[in-house]
Amino acid sequence: MDHFQYRDRTLFCEDVPVPEIAAEFGTPVFVYSKATLVHHLKSIQDAFAEARPVIAYSVKTNGNLSICKLMAEYGSGFDVTSGGELYRALKAGGPNAKTVFAGVGKSEAEMRYGLQSNVMLFNVESEEELFELGRVAASMGRKAPVALRVNPDLPPKTHAKTDTSVKGVKFGLDIEGVLDVSAKAVGHPGLAIVGLHLHLGSPILKSEPYAAGAAKAVQLIEAFRKQGHDIRYLNMGGGFGIHYRKQEALPATAFAEVILPAVRATGCQLVLEPGRFIVGNAGVLVSRVLFNKDTGGKHYVIQDAAMNDLVRPTLYDSFHRVWPVNPAAGVPEYPDDFEAAIPGTVVQDVVGPVCESGDYLAKARHLPLMARGDLVAVFSAGAYGMSMSSNYNSRCRAAEVLVDGTSCRLIRRRELYEDLVAAEVDC
Ligand SMILES: *Cc1c(COP(=O)(O)O)cnc(C)c1O
Repeated sequence: MDHFQYRDRTLFCEDVPVPEIAAEFGTPVFVYSKATLVHHLKSIQDAFAEARPVIAYSVKTNGNLSICKLMAEYGSGFDVTSGGELYRALKAGGPNAKTVFAGVGKSEAEMRYGLQSNVMLFNVESEEELFELGRVAASMGRKAPVALRVNPDLPPKTHAKTDTSVKGVKFGLDIEGVLDVSAKAVGHPGLAIVGLHLHLGSPILKSEPYAAGAAKAVQLIEAFRKQGHDIRYLNMGGGFGIHYRKQEALPATAFAEVILPAVRATGCQLVLEPGRFIVGNAGVLVSRVLFNKDTGGKHYVIQDAAMNDLVRPTLYDSFHRVWPVNPAAGVPEYPDDFEAAIPGTVVQDVVGPVCESGDYLAKARHLPLMARGDLVAVFSAGAYGMSMSSNYNSRCRAAEVLVDGTSCRLIRRRELYEDLVAAEVDC
């Protein structure tokens, strides 16, 4: 469910016509729907209500301050993976008691920052990290609250670059060795092992991996408790998939169905770290066509958004639905199936101005021919779009706009050339 709909062959975000946003704020521009964001957060809160979970919105997914503030306002905490993300969470007024600090490579400064900020949990991913965190915490007269992140060694679930729970990836402690590590931490003056953390990968379109992970978690929690650790938190991470192609994603209730039994069995407080599920379908990237070009039997539409704005197609071979903001009569207003041959269309690649052959947003798509100046919508671009953007080719980052009903406001201004050199001019 989202609030991007066509009315009379014009794309609207809630009650605002997208062409008006493009005219006011320029292109490329990320447009987010508040109602969609809130709807997705609430659907997780409702599905897991029985467990009264701590929802820790994954800041890396989309860290815009206004979006983080909205998350906090609607009861979410934060999952952060760096000092910079913790800074964002704190700036957004995030409740520290609901903030979890993840990441395989925390620096000492980041550990201190997390301890000073009284984060709820550190997700710890290696033995060295665990005892370094213990040393840093003890030196501050503190005990670090820790959830051990375990790699449950499950079958492949998603793209190789985004699967985090198969054997041999850098994430988590090996499930076979984790009890030896936790045994060494019993009675440590700087460590309180209070939780277990799993993050399986992303995006996941089935519930089975969560069922398998949760079953392993129940056994591990029992074993940790036998060692004397007071385990109070079960953190099942994020990774819930969304609609990228059509209606392929599961509702939050499907994940709740397989995760809640583990919560009941362990009596733990549940923590979840959703990102994509909340913000992915709540954003579109809007661009404007610059040129058309035919070469080597291929048709290219060159528009002003590029891999530096949305790198997922380049990085993960990801599929994003792409369609004109104002589809002409003669093509569907919005196709049911973007992978089928669509009447009235021509097969084309949607590319940007960046100097890389890998710079594309969509490949070999059935799209109507578009003219210079036409607006293009790239759907499901709210997650890992702006947050993975870069200044490559010294391109200014796009503007971000948040729509709420009939109103919209800028939540990040388009970057200026001066921003590009701001950290360099005084050197
Ligand atoms: C990336 C990440 C998430 C969020 O994943 P989504 O697929 O966006 O829900 C949650 N937890 C951890 C540890 C992550 O690395």
